[in-house]
Amino acid sequence: MAMKMSKRVLITVVSILALAGGVSANDLNTKEGTKRPILIQGPMPIEAEKFAARLENVETEKSGSTFEFYIGTVDDYPVIVSKTGKGMENTAAATAVAILKYNPAAIINQGTSGGHDPDLNVFDIVLGERTVNIGSMKTRDRAEGDGIVATDWLPMDVMASEGSAGEDPNAEKARYYEADPDLFAIAKKVKNRYKKGNVVEGTIGSADLWNNEVDRINWFHKNYGTSVEEMESASSAMISKAYGIPFLAIRILSNNKTNDGAYNPDTAAANQEYVYEVVQEYISFLKNQ
Ligand code: SAH
Repeated sequence: MAMKMSKRVLITVVSILALAGGVSANDLNTKEGTKRPILIQGPMPIEAEKFAARLENVETEKSGSTFEFYIGTVDDYPVIVSKTGKGMENTAAATAVAILKYNPAAIINQGTSGGHDPDLNVFDIVLGERTVNIGSMKTRDRAEGDGIVATDWLPMDVMASEGSAGEDPNAEKARYYEADPDLFAIAKKVKNRYKKGNVVEGTIGSADLWNNEVDRINWFHKNYGTSVEEMESASSAMISKAYGIPFLAIRILSNNKTNDGAYNPDTAAANQEYVYEVVQEYISFLKNQ
């Protein structure tokens, strides 16, 4: 009985939100006829404030103690910069809050990352053709005293079914979230405007994890095809997909353990400059829709 009630309440809430025009994905206008904003996410202050400073007509809003939104315009088009905080939980929650509050037309998650590909250098930028949660894993069966063998661990897809991921052999795979084709094509189109490094296409791995073991980094590179790691993109991709919002991750290398690329915080600003170019190009694309 309690189950039935809560399900009915949930359905009512979802219907009210849908009726309020909050969740339709394809229409570029809100019910009131204004443009749906483009949402730009950055985890740390240095990964969000540079872009926020370039917005015009800015107002700020806060949700909870951590989520900050800079609501403004670029080229007279509504753009919101969201400072999500670091990590997967902050990002998932900030994404859901932004979707329900602001009904964005598209989401770009951007910021710094650590290289998994030895051919990539600090200041190179990876356009996330796909993102994947590299912290979602299932260990093998080992009895007490048989040790911990991390290279044997299997990927785990928590979205494979509503049943137990631990018991389901179909869940023993990584789930990749594909970039929105329009956002991805536009980001590729403006690659040459970036002069501080190369812009490449690749796979972005996310987890609340900072890998410093080069063998482990190589293992992810080989088994998941990751170009870089960071702590947010796959989480935002998962929630964006749940609401049918076009998504792209754009990540600059701030460090690369595989080729001794030392951490450089200036990369955060460089990435925002490139993302600004992408946003301007995307706005002209939307204006022609
Ligand atoms: N050295 C920085 C670390 C920031 S914490 C400091 O002390 O302030 C990690 C943040 O940087 C996350 O938001 C994550 O997305 C990003 N990041 C950059 N390089 C990373 C790496 N090698 N592994 C994991 N996250 C990384």
